Amino acid sequence: MRLSRYFLPVLKETPSEAQIASHRLMLRAGMIKQATAGIYSWLPLGFKVLRKLENIVHEEQVRAGHVPMLMPTLQSADLWRESGRYDDYGAEMLRITDRHGRDMLYGPTNEELITDIFRAHVGSYKDLPLTLYHIQWKFRDEVRPRFGVMRGREFFMKDGYNFDLTKEDALHAYNRHMVSYLRTYERMGLQAIPMRADSGPIGGDDTHEFLVLAETGESEVFYDSVITDLKLGERVVDYDSRAECEAIVTEWTTPYARTDETHDKATFNAIPEDRRRSSRGIEVGQIFYFGTKYSEPMGATVQGPDGKPVPVHMGSHGIGVSRLVGAIIEASHDEKGIIWPEGVTPFHAGIVNLKQGDSEADAACEALYASLTALGLEPLYDDRDERAGGKFATMDLIGLPWRITVGPRGLKNGVVELTSRRTGESEELPPEAAVEKLA
Ligand code: ATP
Ligand code: MG
Ligand code: MG
Ligand code: MG
Repeated sequence: MRLSRYFLPVLKETPSEAQIASHRLMLRAGMIKQATAGIYSWLPLGFKVLRKLENIVHEEQVRAGHVPMLMPTLQSADLWRESGRYDDYGAEMLRITDRHGRDMLYGPTNEELITDIFRAHVGSYKDLPLTLYHIQWKFRDEVRPRFGVMRGREFFMKDGYNFDLTKEDALHAYNRHMVSYLRTYERMGLQAIPMRADSGPIGGDDTHEFLVLAETGESEVFYDSVITDLKLGERVVDYDSRAECEAIVTEWTTPYARTDETHDKATFNAIPEDRRRSSRGIEVGQIFYFGTKYSEPMGATVQGPDGKPVPVHMGSHGIGVSRLVGAIIEASHDEKGIIWPEGVTPFHAGIVNLKQGDSEADAACEALYASLTALGLEPLYDDRDERAGGKFATMDLIGLPWRITVGPRGLKNGVVELTSRRTGESEELPPEAAVEKLA
């Protein structure tokens, strides 16, 4: 992409309405624009990151054996009356009436809709196990939408639902989700710690939230510092293996890690003092096992091996995809701007032409652009006729991992400058060598 043809409306001033770094930086970097309270337009740069996160979530869900689909944003109130949640859900639900006077709602979550699909089409235990998921916009009329996309009213969420014959099968699905979520966050360059949590209005027995540690997080969390040393890394996981998934879950859930709702002082105080941590966290996902809470009232049964109908055991599993954009920035920025982890960066490298219009500099930039593109990388070429200082500030603000600076003086010696956004370190090297480093 050439900046002269892109749409990157960066702001010079710090917007006064933004209280936290990620919100400020997303506005300044031209990633989002508020449409109305808690509802945002995703401008090209923000949209690109959102799509990258969505793709990572899809890849990891499919790897775990889960099946993608798409449900609508608008739902009929009738299904929610069946489950008993239409009245329970409260003011967070945006209720709409259509021209025929029918009660509708903008889905805050999809347990009812998916259960209705399941009961219409699945009849036998032989069709299980089944986990369906989608990534779709949700609406919750939050009392205090704030912090930009972190607590929006309209937000993008991955929600998945497992259907199993027995509790044991459903617990395997729970474990599979935990492992796939750990991988998902790691690929995004994030540490998200699974913490025992409270199930809230979804209901149920077992639940973990995934929290990114950050001072600006809205949750209070308590944990044993040893949990922050755990990493899945390159480990290849057989998601069909109950033992393997369970072992990973045991490894990650043995160290103490809880949100304030489930915090237990006595257990916490038994941890050696130098390992006790309390801090703030951002909830970027949650998994639930809730048994037959929806399948029973809604009649989602299958014929069991003995021919008798059995209500299926279910769980639901969510990742806050749009919130993650903010959470990643909270975890990775400095005073100059965003620092994207490699796995989610909107562009791989920025090319800064110090003297636009100089035929040698222009040609060198074009050649770099072509070589990087040929490698399957996406460069962002600042080909505008602007001062170097302004170009550098824009690159620092939007946080691409690498910047290649090209100018007539360096080219005389056959070199360009390669700068790491994270470390700030620069080196001079021939253009081909710079390309090789990024390959
Ligand atoms: P919170 O406690 O922050 O209100 P929640 O527990 O109500 O979140 P869940 O029902 O668990 O949310 O939804 C799954 C995920 O969707 C959350 O873990 C979070 O990452 C994301 N999410 C929930 N509400 C919002 C929101 N208002 N804006 C952006 N993302 C959200
Ligand atoms: Mg909530
Ligand atoms: Mg919550
Ligand atoms: Mg939650």
